[in-house]
Amino acid sequence: MINKWEDNVRRVVPYTPGEQPKDKNIIKLNTNENPYPPAPSVREILDNFDVSQMRLYPNPDSEILVNAISERYNLKQEQVFVGVGSDDVISMAFMTFFNSDKPILFPDVTYSFYDVWADVYRIPYKTCPLREDFKINPDDYKQENGGIIFPNPNAPTGVLESIDMIEDIIKSNSDSVVMIDEAYIDFGGKSCLPLIEKYDNLLVIQTFSKSRSMAGMRIGFAMGSEKLIKYMNDVKFSVNSYTMNSVTQICGAEAVRDEKYFTETVNKIIATREYSKKKLAELGFTFTDSMSNFIFASHKTVNAGYIFEELKKRKIFVRYWNKPRINNYMRITVGTDEEMDLLFKALEEILT
Ligand SMILES: *Cc1c(COP(=O)(O)O)cnc(C)c1O
Repeated sequence: MINKWEDNVRRVVPYTPGEQPKDKNIIKLNTNENPYPPAPSVREILDNFDVSQMRLYPNPDSEILVNAISERYNLKQEQVFVGVGSDDVISMAFMTFFNSDKPILFPDVTYSFYDVWADVYRIPYKTCPLREDFKINPDDYKQENGGIIFPNPNAPTGVLESIDMIEDIIKSNSDSVVMIDEAYIDFGGKSCLPLIEKYDNLLVIQTFSKSRSMAGMRIGFAMGSEKLIKYMNDVKFSVNSYTMNSVTQICGAEAVRDEKYFTETVNKIIATREYSKKKLAELGFTFTDSMSNFIFASHKTVNAGYIFEELKKRKIFVRYWNKPRINNYMRITVGTDEEMDLLFKALEEILT
């Protein structure tokens, strides 16, 4: 039975995140988490945290964290917005900047949260098909639109676009806000952050979840012109002022200061990724030249859905989507060398 009040429900089809299995013995290569722990100084902060501080509301501006991020990226504090994971930041940005009757644009193969936010906020959208090689065709983004968003490198393909191409798109769209979701930029890509000084309609979004090993803490941030950031804060303070808790604020600030550890772990993951590309090629896989912490791979003869299920039986989780264009691909998160070797062993077994 459908009640009358249900006519007035905001109905949405929610985003489906990758599985978080309870079994600790699983090799988890399905949600692009970092296999290494966060910066060691985070441990210290938690050991010395004064619990009585929890009585108090957190600083609503997340000042400590905003300061640390703005220092790290040579920006003014007024150019940084923080949120509870970049999912929160992007959601706020959609609410703030995508209020046109014209459709927003994003690729057909991309982060599957964008259409969910567009639906929940009633934002019209149009997807632009990636080329055969999963590259963006910049001309697609030169039509009338109410805003633009895409990840660079893209997910789940791992394909990196050039700064010149991104600048070309921004230049052609001075009437809308362009958001570049740089969730994976630290794994070998070049950030378009310098462009924010030149274009006040560019918002660059990053996260602590991948390159800084803190998916569980939920920290994301956006960088842009003071004007953009001010508009985002106005909306944020109209929804919920105290989104980020005080423990997270100080842990995040501490983590972002440890440049040495950050570089070390990122480089380890890059090395494992390149080693994994060689191994996968030997096993008969083809893949994009990923510049992220995952590899988007397809086998020349064996169906991806089958490999995915067989790996699961062997307690190795990767990500698979039964969706047009990508239903013969698996997205494999880059784990430790040891985890990857176990994956290759299992693949050998499955493929022979
Ligand atoms: C992981 C991811 C995010 C969200 O990460 P948070 O954990 O919410 O910071 C955003 N965009 C893309 C493309 C991602 O892969």
